[in-house]
Amino acid sequence: MAKLLDDAADVTLIEPRDRFIHNLAALRAVTDPDWIDRIFIPYDGLLTRGRVRRDRAVTVTPTTVQLASGEAVEADYIVLATGSTHHFPAKPEASDSTTAQAQLRQTYQELARADRVLLLGAGAVGLEFAGEIRTAWPDKDIMLIEPSAELMAGFPEEFRSQLRAQLEEMDIKVLLGASLQEPPATAAGQTGTFTVQTTTGVEITADIWFACYGATVVTDYLSPELQAARRPDGRIEVTPQLRVVGQERVFAVGDVTAIPEMKQAANASQHAEVVAANIRALIDGRDDLISHQPQPNQIALPLGPRGGVSYGPDFGVLGAAETAEIKGGLFLDRYLELLGATVEASQP
Ligand SMILES: Cc1cc2nc3c(=O)[nH]c(=O)nc-3n(C[C@H](O)[C@H](O)[C@H](O)COP(=O)(O)OP(=O)(O)OC[C@H]3O[C@@H](n4cnc5c(N)ncnc54)[C@H](O)[C@@H]3O)c2cc1C
Repeated sequence: MAKLLDDAADVTLIEPRDRFIHNLAALRAVTDPDWIDRIFIPYDGLLTRGRVRRDRAVTVTPTTVQLASGEAVEADYIVLATGSTHHFPAKPEASDSTTAQAQLRQTYQELARADRVLLLGAGAVGLEFAGEIRTAWPDKDIMLIEPSAELMAGFPEEFRSQLRAQLEEMDIKVLLGASLQEPPATAAGQTGTFTVQTTTGVEITADIWFACYGATVVTDYLSPELQAARRPDGRIEVTPQLRVVGQERVFAVGDVTAIPEMKQAANASQHAEVVAANIRALIDGRDDLISHQPQPNQIALPLGPRGGVSYGPDFGVLGAAETAEIKGGLFLDRYLELLGATVEASQP
């Protein structure tokens, strides 16, 4: 959003992190330490005219953003793009990149010491994590537990059968229709042998576990005028033009929106294009605003750099080789380009 509007407006991007974190590759970073530094990309090259301010929005009204530092920024147009948080390591929490990198390094070491890994949740995050762990450690015992009766429900059977076949080939076990009776005695991401029972009566002993479910939307900063558009689950209702419902000059994009589609960076980028075009139109005094169409389910699900399955209504189901071609590099190049950076720039 910020980059798309940099030539048309005086843009201020407010962001608590000192570096952009390419979280799409966070799961590889805890299994391959070569990736730890490269997923933290400096913001310096993003904007030419505008600025990135390291701060946090604590209250947002239709015209003003109150910051944690105590300062306030007034704006003609405000775009809410605060996304979601996820259990570590899927989205590292620390806003300081040195701390986040140290946490990833520590988790890599914990994982390296564990023979048996238990992942709670076999959605895209759990499956992708399992694929990365298998690639790094061919001999570990890997098990996922998933409450749903079906793997990746919402995708065609051909996609799911390819996925099942690859998981079997990689010796990744998935227990469907089950959850834990009680959480493990150890903390997530810390090595230490534990035994748990599933709701289906299976006993599992493992050495480390991770929660791979449940993104939480970050929209705790809305003023009473904007609260009206906030659903009980925290997501923000938007119009087809991506205005916050009831607002003329406040927009929302990405994971915070209540748009009925998968919460994905690919969809967030489309929102950004729409809102950038709409703010340009409003700046020019035009009223020909464009709309976003909710996108059908599609996914490129890697299982390590050489495996995975993809599906999209336009191209159907793609297997391991094609998925690796599309996403083996986890789109790092694309984000380096967006941020005007190089891999060298993201090294300390
Ligand atoms: C492990 C993993 C892999 C994924 N892989 C893919 C994939 O391959 N393809 C895909 O399309 N999607 C993928 N996704 C989903 C994708 O990461 C999200 O949909 C995407 O990050 C959403 O972008 P966003 O800008 O809305 O939010 P975010 O990426 O969450 O960014 C929000 C930003 O706002 C900042 N922020 C938070 N609170 C405040 C505040 N109060 N004030 C100011 N700033 C704030 C945060 O620090 C953060 O930088 C993946 C997700 C995970 C967890």
